[in-house]
Amino acid sequence: MRRTRRPLLSTLVASASLAFRAHQTAESFSGPPSLKRPSVSLLRAPRTGSRSDPALASSDGDMTESVPNVSPGTLATLVEYATSFSAANGLQVESGSGGGSSVPGTRSYVTAPISLLPQAYPRDQFERATSLAGPFNLLVDRISRDGPFLKETHEDVRGVDEYTGKLLEMYEEVYLGERRGDGWGRFARSADRLGIQRSDYMLHEDSATGGHVIKQVELNTIASSFAGLASGVARLHSFETERLGDELRSFLEGNERAVTGKVSDDGDKGVPASPAMTALPAAISVAYDRYVERHAGAGAGSSKPVVVFVVQPGETNTVDQRLLEFALHDRHGIPVVRMSLAEVQERVTMDESTGRLSFDGEASRREIAVVYYRAGYAPTDYPSGYDTAGGTGVEWLGREKLERGACAKCPCLGYHLAGTKKVQQELARPGVVERFIDDGDDAAAIRSAFAGLYSLGADANEDDAGAVRDVLLRGGEGRYVLKPQREGGGNNYYGREMVDVLSANCTLTGDGDDAAVELSAGLGEFILMERLFPPQQLAVLLRNGRVEGSGMSISELGCFGTVVADGEGGVVHNEYGGFLLRTKFSGVDEGGVASGFATLSSPYLC
Ligand code: ADP
Ligand code: MG
Repeated sequence: MRRTRRPLLSTLVASASLAFRAHQTAESFSGPPSLKRPSVSLLRAPRTGSRSDPALASSDGDMTESVPNVSPGTLATLVEYATSFSAANGLQVESGSGGGSSVPGTRSYVTAPISLLPQAYPRDQFERATSLAGPFNLLVDRISRDGPFLKETHEDVRGVDEYTGKLLEMYEEVYLGERRGDGWGRFARSADRLGIQRSDYMLHEDSATGGHVIKQVELNTIASSFAGLASGVARLHSFETERLGDELRSFLEGNERAVTGKVSDDGDKGVPASPAMTALPAAISVAYDRYVERHAGAGAGSSKPVVVFVVQPGETNTVDQRLLEFALHDRHGIPVVRMSLAEVQERVTMDESTGRLSFDGEASRREIAVVYYRAGYAPTDYPSGYDTAGGTGVEWLGREKLERGACAKCPCLGYHLAGTKKVQQELARPGVVERFIDDGDDAAAIRSAFAGLYSLGADANEDDAGAVRDVLLRGGEGRYVLKPQREGGGNNYYGREMVDVLSANCTLTGDGDDAAVELSAGLGEFILMERLFPPQQLAVLLRNGRVEGSGMSISELGCFGTVVADGEGGVVHNEYGGFLLRTKFSGVDEGGVASGFATLSSPYLC
């Protein structure tokens, strides 16, 4: 694994938990299940939960356990509802690498990791999150077109993180005309851009009012997953709470009190419907139809152009992807073909005079109108290496071929780079959002969702140094999260591990607030982020269709947004696209459903 080879971490590679984390991949369920378990097993009581937390161990799914505020009979009914609803509606994941089926050549599926009931969520903050989808869509599009900004922002990162460096290099060649000449990226530059983003938030106490407000954890611009499964979980939770309203009242009201401090008499409480499975296909169809219209001839006859889903070999979060594929067919008559990056390189060719990409299908040649990435967001998705000049890095060559084509990419390299943690940190600097967003209200709304973000690169200022001092001199490690430029969960540093990484890579000279902070170049790819503390409430978590345990939990809300823009920056589509709630036990630091930390849930608005 690349991360263990980094000199920066050389002092830490012997740590068992790091060795484990090196194998964590992404929001897909790929890889041997034994490696997907968090170092803190959810089968045990939360690591930092107090003894009074009603955390109940239930490693064997033993239904005799009790959950506060839910009777054993109701619990049994809920589990039956959840598992049968999951089977009836595809709330499922493949049960292991290669399908995990005991019958060779077949696939088997199990209930996705879900929380049995929805979690209380303040309606006003949910609505704030949904209203930010449009402004964030626009922000990503604007950033993606600002080459100097992307280069400057990632200057420190590219020297230490080969993966982000490669994305940037390809962006420079295709979109900025560097090194390869103007012709190299001409079809990509005039192609449409498609964004399916997901902005993730945690509730955090507002020091001014004492209430909870949303703060952005991160903005995902590539492979933002779980739109399909999460829509289903919201429908399940809506069914349960409507069907068993009386039986669930004390559970739901207990959580409402825990989150908002009161129980309101609002008659409108409940789980909202997620429009994700109409919104995502609709956005893809906008890009698809525009491609067909523009490239006259595409779409004529029986061999329609296709949407290529770029997927990981051995992916197990396939149902979430298939739900989108089936919706594209049902609603828009658009065919999908799944390919890995290596298959793309092997099968797809580009017409150098038109930029049109095609490959041999079962019966005829098929043209690619839209590319949708559910892979490619992590270095592990490029196992053949970085050396494209030598022709060996087949996955990068595949990515480059798709990027150069005339089809719409979801995301294009600019959108991908606009979603890095380094950009997130840079946006928090005064005036940076405002550089991209003219509308003062939108810029202020975006900015109000930012948590404290600090650079550890050569551009670190006195504020950033203050945060480092806070961790190293004042025992402030509990107030921050240390993040590298990685996606997919399982990569961040908390507590003691953060202190170890920072102290091995910082030199402090002098005392207290006056101490001079010198940061090693290796820290350039990291950002330091204010730690968020969402309100805790009771949850019952289900894994493999069995109750895994119950206890105090925290949740993270994700809001999808979809955007289509043309080569010149004209935005032709910009919409909110549904939501996702992920719930995990309070003592678990990391997030991510696929990486085994969290479960899919939904908000009970109150
Ligand atoms: P990734 O791109 O790997 O998913 P994230 O930034 O989303 O990285 O972090 C992974 C998880 O770590 C989040 O889902 C969340 O559970 C937790 N996390 C991240 N940032 C914070 C924060 N500032 N405060 C508290 N928890 C955080
Ligand atoms: Mg994330």
